[in-house]
Amino acid sequence: MPAETLLLYGTQDIVFRRNMIDQSGSPDDIKRVERSKLDALLGICETASCRRQAILAHFGETMMQGCGNCDTCLNPAETWDATTACRKALSAMLRTGQRFGTGHLVDVLLGMKTEKILKFNHDQLPTFGVGTELDRKGWGSVFRQMIVRGFIEVDHDSFGALRLTALAEPVLKGVETVNFRRERTSTSSAAVMKTKSARTELTGEAAKLFEALRTERSRLAKEQNVPAYVIFHDATLAAIATLRPSSFSALAEIPGMGTTKIERYGITVLNAVKAAA
Ligand SMILES: [Zn+2]
Repeated sequence: MPAETLLLYGTQDIVFRRNMIDQSGSPDDIKRVERSKLDALLGICETASCRRQAILAHFGETMMQGCGNCDTCLNPAETWDATTACRKALSAMLRTGQRFGTGHLVDVLLGMKTEKILKFNHDQLPTFGVGTELDRKGWGSVFRQMIVRGFIEVDHDSFGALRLTALAEPVLKGVETVNFRRERTSTSSAAVMKTKSARTELTGEAAKLFEALRTERSRLAKEQNVPAYVIFHDATLAAIATLRPSSFSALAEIPGMGTTKIERYGITVLNAVKAAA
């Protein structure tokens, strides 16, 4: 059934979660996996393309077109041309041998003379200090969005090193332009996945009955200590609200109404329909 999802996130949440991971006492490789999971989630929050595509891509599935339902499909986000930034980041990855994580790569791009940079002579690279147009936060977002778009991937077996994928090539060669979501200036942002819910498709009396049935369902679910969907799916309730069955045989015509359900809840449903008449 269509559903509505509201996702609220803020910088503080991310800092809080990062600290939790850092102080968890887990082995370093577990911490790295946890950090990259958080980055993946953040990447989905920040994406300028279809959120459903981003979520499916995370689980290794490809959807060629946008879903047409999520907030970024319905209200395209404000974007900026990140082609040059991506090329700089990808080239920093290549020049350092694709053996480092985001933190070090950002240090290279910003021209930071850290101990690690000096140890590997990365201050001698042509990409050293070429990325001062963005700050650390800005580069973090670029790397996350490159992961979401599949240009790069995290190698968990190799200390969280970032690697280029085949999709990075056209970007690196300058054949493909990349647009990323513009960072919002406020400290928190809302990502809304909104689709038409079962309820909004019902109007007038049917909508009223649907709500009454949902209340009954909540009561039954609480009584039996089970999730509401175990009693009835929204689709079944929507069908009852539309068709208004007045007998057991009419009830049997409703999708999702098997013999057991009718035996258990038939009377309750028919009474609810009658009460709403
Ligand atoms: Zn979409």
